[in-house]
Amino acid sequence: QEKPYPNMTVAAAGEKVHTYANVTGTVVGFYTPVFIQDLNTVGYHLHFLSDDHTMGGHILDMTVPANSSVEYDITPYYTVALPTSGAFTGTNLTANMSGAVAAVEQ
Ligand SMILES: [Zn+2]
Repeated sequence: QEKPYPNMTVAAAGEKVHTYANVTGTVVGFYTPVFIQDLNTVGYHLHFLSDDHTMGGHILDMTVPANSSVEYDITPYYTVALPTSGAFTGTNLTANMSGAVAAVEQ
């Protein structure tokens, strides 16, 4: 993205979607439970990177073969670092974005 940055809905409308089949790689992500829904989108947020590092991105849907391996880590805490200077400090963060987030995540 470049300045002036589009809002999330506009940015998502320009999202490029690719379909990959029979590709091996790594999926990394996290699960956000409902009780911290104000910090992130509820549910799984997963990204993919192919083994040859030529394909990847945010995952909208996937099918995983039965012989795949899955590892997970239960993380009891994480740190969110917010900018303390620049445009972020003047940004109005009081808007309820739940509707826009839901629309983008579909
Ligand atoms: Zn993502």
